[in-house]
Amino acid sequence: MATDESKSRIQCGIDFDRDGRQARYLRAPLSRNTSGWGTVDIPIVCVKNGSGPTVLFTGGVHGDEYEGQIAVSDLARTLDPVAIQGRVIMLPAVNVPAVLNDTRLSPVDHRDLNRCFPGNPFGTFSEMLAHFIDTVVLPLVDISVDVHTAGHSMESALSTNMHYLPDAQMRKRTMDAAAAFGAPFNVVFWGVDEGATLTSSVERRGILSLGTELGGWGRVNVEGVSIGKRGLANILRHFGVMEGRPDTSQRDGAPGTRHMMVRDQDCYLFAPTGGVFEPRHLAGATVEGEDIAGYLHFVEDIDRAPIEIRYRRSGVLWMASGPGRVQRGDVVAVVMNDYDDAVAAV
Ligand SMILES: [Zn+2]
Repeated sequence: MATDESKSRIQCGIDFDRDGRQARYLRAPLSRNTSGWGTVDIPIVCVKNGSGPTVLFTGGVHGDEYEGQIAVSDLARTLDPVAIQGRVIMLPAVNVPAVLNDTRLSPVDHRDLNRCFPGNPFGTFSEMLAHFIDTVVLPLVDISVDVHTAGHSMESALSTNMHYLPDAQMRKRTMDAAAAFGAPFNVVFWGVDEGATLTSSVERRGILSLGTELGGWGRVNVEGVSIGKRGLANILRHFGVMEGRPDTSQRDGAPGTRHMMVRDQDCYLFAPTGGVFEPRHLAGATVEGEDIAGYLHFVEDIDRAPIEIRYRRSGVLWMASGPGRVQRGDVVAVVMNDYDDAVAAV
C-alpha cells in the first residue's frame, strides 16, 4: 500500500464541511513505556452554519498562558451554530501536554510548539502537532487569532499584536481586525524569533493573523480574560460571522485600541548578567529614555552594589520583567511607541 509521506498521524474525526456543532478530540499518538499505542486527546470544536469566512481561535499553544485557554474554551462550549454565518474552529488547549503540565514547553519532547512550525508528521510530538495544524487546519482558515500571554517570563500590557506586513492592503485589514478585537493596545512588531511560529505558518498561507498578549506573570489576569472573551466575539462580528458591531470601548474612556509599534532592537532591554531584577515600572506605564528601568541585584555578595539598567527609548512599557531571577540575555523590558506608518515603512 502506498503511503502519503505528508499525511498527518493525528486522527481528527471532524467533518469540517458539515453544518452544526461538532465537539471532538484530536487523537495524537504518543508511545510510552506503559502504553505503546497510547494517545493524547486534544479538544477541538467546529461550529458551522451556511457560508461565510472561517475563523480559527487557538488557546494553550503555551501551557502557562491561561486567558486564551479560558476565553476559547468558553466560546467553544457556548457558540450556537444558529448565531453564526460561516465557520469557527476552536482549539482551546492546543498543546494539551504543556497545558496539563502548566509549562510553556511540552513535557513530552521539551519543545516550544510555537517554534516547531511548519512541523513534521514523523518528528517529535510537538512537530507532529504543528504539522497537523499547518496542513489540515490552516488550509480551511481565513482569519486566525492565536491567544497568548507573556506566560511566566513577562507581564504584558493587554494587547493584540501583528507583524509589520509589507503589503499595505493586508496590513490595513489586519490593523482593522485588531482595532475590532478591541484590546487597549495593538502592537505592530518585527519579530525577533520568527519562521517557526504558528504566526509564520499562518502568514505563509496568506491568512489574516492576529496574536495577543493578555497578561502574564504565570497567573490569570482578570481584565485579560474579559478583554479576550470580548475580543473573540468582536472578531466574529467584524467579519460578519456574527451579527452586531464590535464593542471596543476602553476602561479609561478611550473609544478604541491604540496602535503601537516596536520598531527596533533599542526597544528591548536585555539583562547584562544574571541576578535578581527589581523592575521600577509595570506594563502599560509611560517611561522616558535614560530612566532607570530597574536594578539587577547580587544578593549573594554583601558588598556588591546593584547594576542600574536604563531604558534606551521613551514610550509605553509593552512587556515588563516577570521572574525575579534573570539570566544574562533575558529580556527585562520592551518599550513600544505610537504607530506611525511613515516610520514603519522605512
Ligand atoms: Zn505564548
